[in-house]
Amino acid sequence: MDYYSNQISRLIEELSCLPGIGSKSAARLAFHLIHMPLEDVDRLASTMVEARKNVRYCKDCCTLTDQELCPICSNGKRDHKTIMVVENTRDLAAYEKIGKYDGVYHVLHGAISPMLGIGPEDIKLKELIERLQGEVEEVIIATNSSLEGETTAMYISKLIKPAGIKVSRIASGVPVGGDLEYIDEVTLLRALEGRTQL
Ligand code: ZN
Repeated sequence: MDYYSNQISRLIEELSCLPGIGSKSAARLAFHLIHMPLEDVDRLASTMVEARKNVRYCKDCCTLTDQELCPICSNGKRDHKTIMVVENTRDLAAYEKIGKYDGVYHVLHGAISPMLGIGPEDIKLKELIERLQGEVEEVIIATNSSLEGETTAMYISKLIKPAGIKVSRIASGVPVGGDLEYIDEVTLLRALEGRTQL
């Protein structure tokens, strides 16, 4: 990239580190940024830094939030005895969008994958088990229907069933390998309502 001046090259290089951004897109973004009003670039940069600094895991459900407790966990009107286990914060958002679920969540931030060397200790599973010491009536496992999602679901159900807590799995109306966030709301609601006890 010698044909660009040093700072432009560096900007392109940094941008191309982002997921889904190849060198062509990175160059396009870099030139776009350079032509943007300075105050807009300033705002964008500080929003990124602030979010990175302040966003953390919710103390209860491990979703990403900028408070100690996320808005769902701190909502007294939600049913705190029902916990839906999802793989990531985007899946949580997909269920929230339907607006029909009034329980709380637990975000694992991943799924067990022996192939990728991701074990139970690499996701927020310990935190889920700790939560089950409290008053919990049902755990709904809503991990994806991919191999990793199914492995994780099986692992969790084996782990918590002996505790006498009701464990259910969302219905398999969710296409195999489908990421929850891309599934339409009707399918998602059907999957939730048609969940089966494990
Ligand atoms: Zn929370």
